[in-house]
Amino acid sequence: MDRSRSPLRAFTVAAAASGLFALGPVAPAHAAGADAGASTEAGRAASVAAVREQVVAWRRDVHAHPELGNREVRTAGLVAKALGEMGIEVRTGIAHTGVVGVLRGGRAGPTVALRADMDALPVAEQTGLPFASTTRTTYRGKDVGVMHACGHDAHVAILLGAARVLSGMREQVPGTVLFVFQPAEEGAPAGERGGARLMLEEGVFADPRPDAAFGLHVVPQHRVGEIAVLPGGTMAGSNRLEITVRGRQTHAAYPWLGVDPIAVASRIVLALQAIPGRQMDARLPTVVSIGVIEGGIRHNIIPDEVKLLGTIRHLDPSQRDDLFARIRRTAVKIGESSGATVTVEIPDGYPVTFNDPALAERGRQALSGVPGATVVTPLPRTGAEDFAFFAREVPGLYFQLGVRAPGVPASDAAPNHSPRFLVDEDALPLGVRAFVELVMEQAARP
Ligand SMILES: [Zn+2]
Ligand SMILES: [Zn+2]
Repeated sequence: MDRSRSPLRAFTVAAAASGLFALGPVAPAHAAGADAGASTEAGRAASVAAVREQVVAWRRDVHAHPELGNREVRTAGLVAKALGEMGIEVRTGIAHTGVVGVLRGGRAGPTVALRADMDALPVAEQTGLPFASTTRTTYRGKDVGVMHACGHDAHVAILLGAARVLSGMREQVPGTVLFVFQPAEEGAPAGERGGARLMLEEGVFADPRPDAAFGLHVVPQHRVGEIAVLPGGTMAGSNRLEITVRGRQTHAAYPWLGVDPIAVASRIVLALQAIPGRQMDARLPTVVSIGVIEGGIRHNIIPDEVKLLGTIRHLDPSQRDDLFARIRRTAVKIGESSGATVTVEIPDGYPVTFNDPALAERGRQALSGVPGATVVTPLPRTGAEDFAFFAREVPGLYFQLGVRAPGVPASDAAPNHSPRFLVDEDALPLGVRAFVELVMEQAARP
């Protein structure tokens, strides 16, 4: 951002006078300089640079006070207060702790939703950062540390930063912007519902209804400065797989007197591995993994029943039903061939996070124009993301923001969910800028 410093001194001084630089509570930033600068690259760069310190402060505050899904009370309070101080209409209590800000721009244009998730994970932090979390809580009956090990603290700070910049250039903003702060992306606690799906059920997109939704995730697979945009399926559809194999119990010395569910389950596990490789289109990745095999009590007893638990991933929505049918057929027919009864349950999961191809192309072009940003085309990820529900409701674009520090090889960077997961804060202004560009680019829509 240094390159834009000198031509923008006048703007910078005006913005400082307006309170744009202030940390903590500020009046809504309606500086004439901000509005005038909004239409130029340099103006937007300066506006983002001006909120950098505040964005870092928000990120560290949220990082030091992480909260698990559906428990983001303090975080939601911080978000609502900050949005209110920007003069943005605030809606709270959506899907438990969700917060939505509504900014009505001064120019005609569509409605777009920008989304950040707010929840942390039951992970004991080991980063050694001065603002590391020392929070502990009870999770599934166990005392655990709590950490923003997926970087949702950065997402919250980036989206607040975008709200601050856009509210400061409100007269130039096309259409309406919804700032969606979502609880429980990592899943709701046992017995509760939450996340994107519940926000939609509670009307987050009802009034006004967005024409497009944007979200980002910080990832150490990419270095600071890189933005990864993939059209089509960018993150996997994910479903739990539950298979029950019922045989007939017998002495293990006389297997012919019963039906051995362990032998049947073993053949099912191996046959499932062959479905992605031999039956599905090899150009579109699918994954079937078994993570749990439960059955038996003693070495010389063949049990009645074995349970298999696993996960199914797909990246093209058109593959879903076919993949499920092949899994069912394979498991049931192997059971039949041995006289066992097999039931296959595939409960509702997460859909594919699907990037609307036209939106992705426009987004890629808009982000490519940001100085210092390198837009890359990544491979799809077989992890799942509940932004998928928003992107199923309206055209969506979900992209990755690199947060790996310069000089750190990708192989040395701790992955998301690691107790040593790090976000290089130099990435935060680019995240803010990316959201701002995606909103301002809407002015070009017919
Ligand atoms: Zn995560
Ligand atoms: Zn995450």
